[in-house]
Amino acid sequence: MSLLLLLLNTSNFATFSYLRQLGFEGGVFNRAPSPVSSTWVHEQFNNIFVAIINLSLSLSLSSFYQQLTTAIEIMFKLKNQAILFSNHGMLRFFSASTAAAAISDAVPQPQQSTLANAQMKDMMDPDFFISTLFKCRNIFQIKQVHAQVTTTGIIHDLIVANKLLYMCAKHKDLVTAHLLFNKMEERDPVSWSVMIGGFVKNGDYERCFQTFRELIRAGSKPDNFSLPFVIKACRDTMGLIMGRLIHSTVLKNGLHLDNFVCSTLVDMYAKCGMIDNAKQLFDRMPKKDLVTRTVMIAGYAECGKPNESWVLFDQMRRDGFVPDKVAMVTIVNACAKLGAMNKARLVHDYVCARRYSLDVELGTAMIDMYAKCGSIDSSREIFDRMEQKNVISWSAMIGAYGYHGQGREALELFHMMLNSGIIPNRITFISLLYACSHAGLVDDGLQLFSLMSVSYGVRPDVKHYTCMVDLLGRAGRLDQALRLIENMEVEKDEGIWCAFLGACRIHRQVDLAEKAAKLLLSLQTQNPGHYILLSNIYANAGRWKDVAKIRNLMAKRRLKKIPGYTWIEVDNIIYRFGAGDNSHLRSKEIYEMLKSLSQKLESAGYVPDTNSVLHDVDEEVKLGILHAHSEKLAIAFGLIATPDGTPIRITKNLRVCGDCHSFCKLVSAITQRDIIVRDANRFHHFKEGICSCGDYW
Ligand SMILES: [Zn+2]
Ligand SMILES: [Zn+2]
Repeated sequence: MSLLLLLLNTSNFATFSYLRQLGFEGGVFNRAPSPVSSTWVHEQFNNIFVAIINLSLSLSLSSFYQQLTTAIEIMFKLKNQAILFSNHGMLRFFSASTAAAAISDAVPQPQQSTLANAQMKDMMDPDFFISTLFKCRNIFQIKQVHAQVTTTGIIHDLIVANKLLYMCAKHKDLVTAHLLFNKMEERDPVSWSVMIGGFVKNGDYERCFQTFRELIRAGSKPDNFSLPFVIKACRDTMGLIMGRLIHSTVLKNGLHLDNFVCSTLVDMYAKCGMIDNAKQLFDRMPKKDLVTRTVMIAGYAECGKPNESWVLFDQMRRDGFVPDKVAMVTIVNACAKLGAMNKARLVHDYVCARRYSLDVELGTAMIDMYAKCGSIDSSREIFDRMEQKNVISWSAMIGAYGYHGQGREALELFHMMLNSGIIPNRITFISLLYACSHAGLVDDGLQLFSLMSVSYGVRPDVKHYTCMVDLLGRAGRLDQALRLIENMEVEKDEGIWCAFLGACRIHRQVDLAEKAAKLLLSLQTQNPGHYILLSNIYANAGRWKDVAKIRNLMAKRRLKKIPGYTWIEVDNIIYRFGAGDNSHLRSKEIYEMLKSLSQKLESAGYVPDTNSVLHDVDEEVKLGILHAHSEKLAIAFGLIATPDGTPIRITKNLRVCGDCHSFCKLVSAITQRDIIVRDANRFHHFKEGICSCGDYW
């Protein structure tokens, strides 16, 4: 038996043709299984209702009702046939909430008429629809309810309409939500905030702002629900100007003391890089709850002030707050940025004491933290203890090995990952290629690069290409690297030219560097590091006129050289050194230590590498500048402030220069201390005169 036939038998071709237009063609209805199951009938009803509700969005109200009545009639007939072979229980969801079903359930069976009456009563109860909406698990079920509330007129109940709007937005059907919103005769603050929030959550910021403007124009008052959504949109789009406008709206509406609104403003300012504005607001907040404090901690970490994050975290605990999982992940990330091992251990102890489970999020953050604090073994320990690991956790561990120049271990872990059935993604391959590049594993890298799209369906993007250029470049295969760049199909960015330039610097290929530099500078790069790199190359070749040209270009583009800093943690205090710094209390001792070190080093055959100095100055001055590089000062301080044999861990914001690298190697041999340097690119473990990077960085 065919349901299509039944539809045709009703002789209502108008409805049928509407359904047809919407794609519910004969094929759909024709393919009835034999024997016909009630589930199948149920599905057909769903399809028809979804079709009707789609129609309702494009028809005027009167013709919609007309069509709907016809459709219900058809379905009624249909169901009378279907009921012969259906099971009432299976039709429950449908029959409980539609007029058609309510009628057909009244088929001659005495106890069923009471059931039908009860159902008819349900049909007029808004609470019934609200609870039905709560139970909806997909957009098709929501659309059914939409059809039903439209039929019964319950849609005019504002609470029901809001709930429906919310559900559509939640299930990412913004088109239906927006149409519904536009048709609403009455809107309250909830309707506005649901609509604005729906747009933000789905990344449609333009319409979010547009709807917010409509709200203001309609004379409605923005409240502490709608405002945070708009502020979040400003944050995500880095729209500081809009953010400040919204801030003034907050003040105008007297919501500046609202915790929820304020913490989103703090978040927005922090993400837009205006950390001082964020702090000002934060300080003025009368009640600082856990969420607000976490937001501020994250803000500090993100804008490169992880030390302040730590102070705030300490303060939070002293104020009696027990950090939740989100706060823990935030502080773990801040510790990673800080690179301070003692702090990392403190956080780890805290995690253990509070018995936080090492789930994917916290565990992965801790892997990264230990890797960045210089202890790859602790990273691995965390990784092994994690009960659940996903592709991100595996990639983080592979990345950690790469960061420490342990390419073989990274590859081994990759094979373990494949064996445990985890499918690698683009991040995994970035971590892997990075690891190969930093360990000089050229062949493995090339093999992985060709395998990634063929065997794992991951198409290389510019990041993967950059790793490959780095890999080939470091190995001296500059022509091959250049060919790869020229032939790549994805758009080139600054990073890839920068990687190529870096390779040119190592191999002193001034001509190739110039070619790449022209392309890089034509991208109007705002990163002063790129200009410095090029001026380095010219300086190495003794082309001081060209160095001056680059300096002038930097000045013209208003770029300043980022000052180099080195941090060292001693007795739980983090000290920062700049080049030539003499602000430290023990400055005199530090310089004395440096002097005695230099003497020892010179007798061990150390010759300062003045090529690392960029300025066109005479040799003696160059020596003076080299002598006072921030990492040297920090190491000297580490030597006088910590007991013999303690490893010295320092963090530098820029790349470590060639001279400091040789210096570290020799100091590690003379003083019998391990020196662990984290620079802007990677880790260097200096032990007994040798660096883990194999002088390949
Ligand atoms: Zn240096
Ligand atoms: Zn090194």
